Amino acid sequence: MLRLSTILELSFQHRKFLTDDQYGFVYDFLHELAGLEPEKPYANNLIKGVRDLTRDTKDYILTTDAGKNKAAAFVRNWLIPNIQPLTLADYYEKIASVIRSDGSIADRTKNGLLKSYDDGKYEAFLLKSILYAISKENVENITEIPTDDMEFVFEADKKCSLCGKSLILPKAKKTMYRYSIVEIFPEMLSSSKKSEFATISREPADYLHRSNRICLCDVCADEYEYNPTKEVFRKLIDKKDYYMEKENASSALAKAKLDEEVGEILSRLREIKSFDELADFRKIPLELKEKIDNNETLRQTIKSDVEGYYNYIRHELSLLDDCGSEFKIIASQFQISYEKLKPIIGDQEDIYNRIINWVLDELKLPPKYSTAARIIVSFFVQNCEVFDEISK
Ligand SMILES: [Zn+2]
Repeated sequence: MLRLSTILELSFQHRKFLTDDQYGFVYDFLHELAGLEPEKPYANNLIKGVRDLTRDTKDYILTTDAGKNKAAAFVRNWLIPNIQPLTLADYYEKIASVIRSDGSIADRTKNGLLKSYDDGKYEAFLLKSILYAISKENVENITEIPTDDMEFVFEADKKCSLCGKSLILPKAKKTMYRYSIVEIFPEMLSSSKKSEFATISREPADYLHRSNRICLCDVCADEYEYNPTKEVFRKLIDKKDYYMEKENASSALAKAKLDEEVGEILSRLREIKSFDELADFRKIPLELKEKIDNNETLRQTIKSDVEGYYNYIRHELSLLDDCGSEFKIIASQFQISYEKLKPIIGDQEDIYNRIINWVLDELKLPPKYSTAARIIVSFFVQNCEVFDEISK
């Protein structure tokens, strides 16, 4: 695709001075083209095609006379002289072939661009190609959010953390996202800017740590990375603090809910009359493939829940009146059922699911109680000897 990143990449590959590094080259390119002074991460992201020029810059280059003249002078006086003369013809041909194979360019436009090339008017061809590339978006839309990005997109509620704009593209046939995850304290700032930022918040030890990353719409991200200001930096810190607080509050709330559900199931366990049905396959259909089977994360969560609930359940049980004898029986019933199912079903996960579903059925509880039920089942199955202790 003919985009700014393509032009930058090809120009860099064909640069005259091989000693130029990528950042230096892109910096000079953009400085000569439009007077920009991009920071390193932004320049690198432009060439990678994950950032775009700011709207102001595009407007300047594409719509003002000063901008158009500057672009023309840039091609003539800077770009062409900075391409290796021996590969200059290759360079033009590469750009022409990108245009030929770019299905997103309308035929008329395509022919217009290629006409100058075919006529041997290379300078005009290069200028037109660059202006066209700048008019296009330099970033691709995403139809599926990569796993690594999810927490940032979701904590921001799929909205830009600065301007609040939705990160879902409007009117797209498929759901498409457009966002950027930026570093709040950007890495590779100039040293003066770095010390300026450090007066507001300490430089992070790890720039890629989740606490230093936040999700923005691409417009805000382009602007912030091109020119990170203290004002925006402060806003991003506040927003991230807000997200973290919200997350802590909601996990505390989830924990409290779960406590309540575990307590409720425990207090109602005595309502279960007969455990005989549990091992009776005619009564309950086997559900060997529960979602949870393929979910290692959830499995781990539950494991830690069970570990975390050990003392809580013990405490709750000791508060319930006749924990001694009655719960000892219930616990041993769970364990017997478990032992009975083991040779038949084999997979521990499946047995658990079967027992959990059975408890929910018996107590007529909705599926949202399954985590609480699981904690209790795991506790009973794994810690039966505990009841001997409690009853003493
Ligand atoms: Zn925004």
